[in-house]
Amino acid sequence: MRLATLDTPDGPRAVVLEGDHLVDIAASDSSLPSSLTQLLRLGPEALARAGKAGGSPSARRHGYEPGRLLPAVSQPGKILCIGRNYAEHVRELGNVPSERPEVFVRVTTSLTGPFAPVVRPRASDQMDYEVEMAVVIGAAGRNIEPERALEHVAGYCVFNDVSIRDYQMAAQQWTPGKNFDRTGPLGPFLVTADEVPDPQSLRLSTVVRRPDGGEEVLQDSTTALMMRPVADLIAFLSIFATLEPGDVIATGTPGGVGLGRQPRRWLLPGEILVSRLEGVGEMRNPVVDEVSESGLRTTFAGWPSSRHR
Ligand code: ZN
Repeated sequence: MRLATLDTPDGPRAVVLEGDHLVDIAASDSSLPSSLTQLLRLGPEALARAGKAGGSPSARRHGYEPGRLLPAVSQPGKILCIGRNYAEHVRELGNVPSERPEVFVRVTTSLTGPFAPVVRPRASDQMDYEVEMAVVIGAAGRNIEPERALEHVAGYCVFNDVSIRDYQMAAQQWTPGKNFDRTGPLGPFLVTADEVPDPQSLRLSTVVRRPDGGEEVLQDSTTALMMRPVADLIAFLSIFATLEPGDVIATGTPGGVGLGRQPRRWLLPGEILVSRLEGVGEMRNPVVDEVSESGLRTTFAGWPSSRHR
């Protein structure tokens, strides 16, 4: 089953893909909620009913307009991200693997839709891509054993952990550089776990399409190369936090990021960022400049970034 969140005149609505249409789950079955997070909280039986919403006599369908998709889980309770979880990525940054998983948090305002613009902020031009597999929690748990961890997974999304490197690297805490508004596309769908038999064998890639028509394959790897697999990450995160339905775990990016290249390769306005995860889907996000109210890109003068030094 492919679930998503659609922007409609009635607000964000949980939908399920049926052929080339999106079925509005709550409008088709009034016992189900309009939020995907709320739906996940109701558990597997409600999820199964959501899958049958299209069969209801009152089923309400929307045409599939990719541009209206919001982040697949639009208001996750928490977004826990894993840093440096692929050996090649650790090496390209000149780091050594850490003893425990490196965890940071993203906030919901940093998310954007799977075909919506990713916004290069006024404050920096060091905008970098990081394709990742995202895991969405379906069943709550704390101190989860690795052997049972996958039972807590509702499904998977593609994620691009687009990062503003100078703001990430300026201090020990990465929070600012990982949380600029509208930098993290999540989607296009939440693909339920039953359709992803082995999350540790999926090819994932970042391709950038330039305005001149050229294409650059910048990342091309497989989730088989994750140093800590999904089950171990769930076990580790649940040592300190209760994982709840709708929570998102970003599992880290493979090698090939712009920061690890010589010369460095930042995203530029006019380019299209294509993020793929085998069996889960593809997102296409145009890179745009943040503009001021005058409609012009103006540099942010309040705090020195590397650009102004
Ligand atoms: Zn990342």
